[in-house]
Amino acid sequence: MSKLNNLIDEFVEAALSPSEAIEKSKQITGKEIVGCFPVYTPEEIIYAAGFLPVGMWGGKTEIRYADKYLQSFCCSIMRSNIEYGIKGVYKSLKATIIPAFCDTLKCIIENWKVAIPDIPVIPVVYPQNRTDTFGYAYLVAEFTRFKSEMEKLSGKTISESELAAAFDIYENYRSLMRSFVEIVKDYPVTINARKRHLIIKSGYFMDKKHYSELMKELIDALKAMPKEKHSGPRVVGTGLIFEPIELTDIFVENQISLVEDDFAQESRQFRAVARTEGTAMDKMAYRVVDLRGCTFLYEEQKSKGDMLVEMVKRNKADAVFVSMMKFCDPEEFDYPIIKKKLDDAGIPILYIETEMHMDSYEQIRTRIQSFSEMLM
Ligand code: SF4
Repeated sequence: MSKLNNLIDEFVEAALSPSEAIEKSKQITGKEIVGCFPVYTPEEIIYAAGFLPVGMWGGKTEIRYADKYLQSFCCSIMRSNIEYGIKGVYKSLKATIIPAFCDTLKCIIENWKVAIPDIPVIPVVYPQNRTDTFGYAYLVAEFTRFKSEMEKLSGKTISESELAAAFDIYENYRSLMRSFVEIVKDYPVTINARKRHLIIKSGYFMDKKHYSELMKELIDALKAMPKEKHSGPRVVGTGLIFEPIELTDIFVENQISLVEDDFAQESRQFRAVARTEGTAMDKMAYRVVDLRGCTFLYEEQKSKGDMLVEMVKRNKADAVFVSMMKFCDPEEFDYPIIKKKLDDAGIPILYIETEMHMDSYEQIRTRIQSFSEMLM
């Protein structure tokens, strides 16, 4: 049990202290770091180029300089990232990768060049119509362009075998994460909603090979334990991110367990299983083509609502929790469609609007507490 607790503490600490975790990973690997904005970046290419990709998902900081570049109605993750950049928090980055999924991200690419000129920015553009053959062909061409940018940055050519090896490391990580979110349902006491989130988040600040080794140990340690009983409400979570962290504390206070998630920062990163055919580049492109139910990737059928209903049914969950990042247009646009599907299926919804910098949680605490009591 102490080994299990030590492992959990290591993950939690890394997620709560990203700078220290990244510094530690740099020392272990000897690699320079490349920052990756949300939501998806072809990390395997960065890894194959010899860099350590790290996640840039915002955080809590007083906004003093970012407002010069971004309107106050931009999402708080991006305002934090620009603020951190200007304040020098990211000064050790070799480059920043920004995927252009929404209007804010498109503007950020240009803003970054002016606001933080010392750190080069490399955009990645994803096609809207990705499920047709031309969408796949475009993705391969875009990833190939991105690969040449990484080669320029590292000063070395990335061989086919290096890319394949990096892809395998990431695919092993994704497979372990799918196992983790499945098994953790049976241990809601040892790994509550807060710890579940932090364990998954910590992977953004560690070398994926090292993280996967620890994750394998964690899964094995959990499997050796008897399953746990839990009497609180069971919910499925959706949204961009399950933060600020105080939100997860309120879940724990009310004994709410998260039985499955569709958070962009969590399961959306690893739920698409890679195809087996083709080169590593093909497989990377197919993973984007095959991902369903993500608000940031255009999908005519809008399958997310049905997907959430299915998640609730298969987990015998009590409700869906929507963590809505304020001013995140793609997530907000899809919400009415999702809500109708959930309403039609008679599934209760806990809708919480969040920002990275919130002063008070009392209203949210009261709403979550009432919702929890309603479900009991
Ligand atoms: S609006 Fe949403 S998708 Fe766009 S940068 Fe902000 S959080 Fe990300």
